[in-house]
Amino acid sequence: MTRKIAVYPGSFDPVTHGHIDIMRRASAIFDEVIVAVLVNRSKTGLFTPQERQDFIHRSVADIKNVRVDSFNGLLVDYMRQREITTAIRGLRAVSDLEYEFQLAHTNRMLYPEMETVFLMPSVNYVYLSSTTVREVAMLGGELDFGVPAHVEKALREKYKK
Ligand code: ADP
Repeated sequence: MTRKIAVYPGSFDPVTHGHIDIMRRASAIFDEVIVAVLVNRSKTGLFTPQERQDFIHRSVADIKNVRVDSFNGLLVDYMRQREITTAIRGLRAVSDLEYEFQLAHTNRMLYPEMETVFLMPSVNYVYLSSTTVREVAMLGGELDFGVPAHVEKALREKYKK
């Protein structure tokens, strides 16, 4: 039987409990999940792609079928090269829908075999985003609501005066 492999792409700047929740759910459905950190956005992130990958790696060390990778350019090219046809995206609320539909349909035009699978996180993480976490970190607030301890430590270092 062919192994079912899925890619979970994103910026993950930094990874949050919401992302990790989606990774766990995906790992229960697919034989292998590749978390792919996008490195070529026009804006540079808070953390380097390598740092983001390391944070994810530590966060999912206990899940044996999750791998971490990074990619440049188009997701469809990354997937096609590896003959992977399933992408995972997290859907928090209706507000995510518009953007995610645009993305999924664009990807489908570029790579017709591709399917995007949407997973819902625990309701606890519905309002959680990397942006919110970065803002709270910048203002010196508690971060355990949003990220694992090792990410919280890195955020504190980053914003230390
Ligand atoms: P992008 O910049 O590509 O949207 P993100 O790293 O912000 O990348 O998110 C990657 C994926 O994870 C997206 O599908 C996003 O909707 C989803 N996601 C982000 N935060 C959460 C969360 N709290 N719960 C579930 N899914 C989430």
